[in-house]
Amino acid sequence: MGHRCGTRRTPRFARRHPGQHRGRHGRCRRHAPAGLDRPLHLRALLRGAAADAGGGLRAAARAARGNLLGHPCPGPGGRGRRRARRARRQRADGARLHAGKRRPVLLPQGSRLRAVRRPDLDRPVSGRKDELAARLEQVRGRIARASAGRAGGEPELIVVTKYFPASDVAALAELGVRDVGENRDQEAPAKAAGLAGAGPAAGLRWHFIGQLQTNKAKSVVRYAHAVHSVDRPQLVAALSKAMLAVQERRSGAGLPAREDLVCLIQVDLDERPPGARPAAPGKGRGGAAPEDIAGLAGLIEQAPGLVLGGLMAVAPLGADPAEAFGRLAGLSRELRAGHPEAGMISAGMSQDLEAAVAAGATHLRVGSDVLGDRPAVG
Ligand SMILES: *Cc1c(COP(=O)(O)O)cnc(C)c1O
Repeated sequence: MGHRCGTRRTPRFARRHPGQHRGRHGRCRRHAPAGLDRPLHLRALLRGAAADAGGGLRAAARAARGNLLGHPCPGPGGRGRRRARRARRQRADGARLHAGKRRPVLLPQGSRLRAVRRPDLDRPVSGRKDELAARLEQVRGRIARASAGRAGGEPELIVVTKYFPASDVAALAELGVRDVGENRDQEAPAKAAGLAGAGPAAGLRWHFIGQLQTNKAKSVVRYAHAVHSVDRPQLVAALSKAMLAVQERRSGAGLPAREDLVCLIQVDLDERPPGARPAAPGKGRGGAAPEDIAGLAGLIEQAPGLVLGGLMAVAPLGADPAEAFGRLAGLSRELRAGHPEAGMISAGMSQDLEAAVAAGATHLRVGSDVLGDRPAVG
């Protein structure tokens, strides 16, 4: 018996492969897509769908098969077609065998969800959540090793989830992450709102760590617990005004006031003049000059709705992070002399978290070593 792909199923073939090619493409090498190692399962499901389906559904099943197997393939032929016809005749009223909505065919899970070994992970992982768990374990191990013997213990880990979907943030929350960082107001509000309802993710604290335009202040204060990138007086004013509006709205709605917005002053640690710095595509690093810290701290302290948390910095590109974070620690000491409560030092990313821990960071912002590579922007 031939089938539509032109492969013949000879009697000899049928004897040798009794379990395969039961009337359709089982052994059609030409059309079995390379690398897809489960066409037998797919075929079984789809043949069932076609046989069970009425006219319109059968067409849908046919279309799905074409897409899933990766080549345009006509509908049931030979035995599958005869069986479909018979099944339809038997259900003379044309009733659908299965109630419910039409859905794409899903692959069976379970044993098919194999663990894969990845070069940057020290154990095989199966599925995204397990991958996140493995990466998180590795990063937490690094933090613990770097913090051994350190006064004050381990710093807090803020997992930077920018560019990664809300489903990853939810999985991280289930894995015990309490603080997440975002640097783009285009994506953070929807993620935060989508996760605010219930489950472990509802208790997350959102840290805004990116460059912030004053016109985004209103949006950021709706979801952020802290803003790490305060670097100019206009932004202090905009955040305070936005916080007052939030509090007014909440009291108008009979809701309790939200806690004050924690503000960290982002410090520019690069000592090179702007022209002498390495170009960082897509990275306006920002930050206040060290001599402007005291003035900004005074403004934040005076501003209603804001509370001064401390300092934040990114190690300058191409510079020694240990040296830069050492200077940050000195600036933090100076700040705390006048503002003893402003003890946060937010420093250290995937590449340089050990140097930040050694310099006394209280908060680390780690993205790619927990979530994997992100697109080469931002
Ligand atoms: C993206 C980002 C991070 C995280 O960087 P990774 O190298 O992915 O760990 C930390 N801080 C800021 C300000 C960022 O924008």
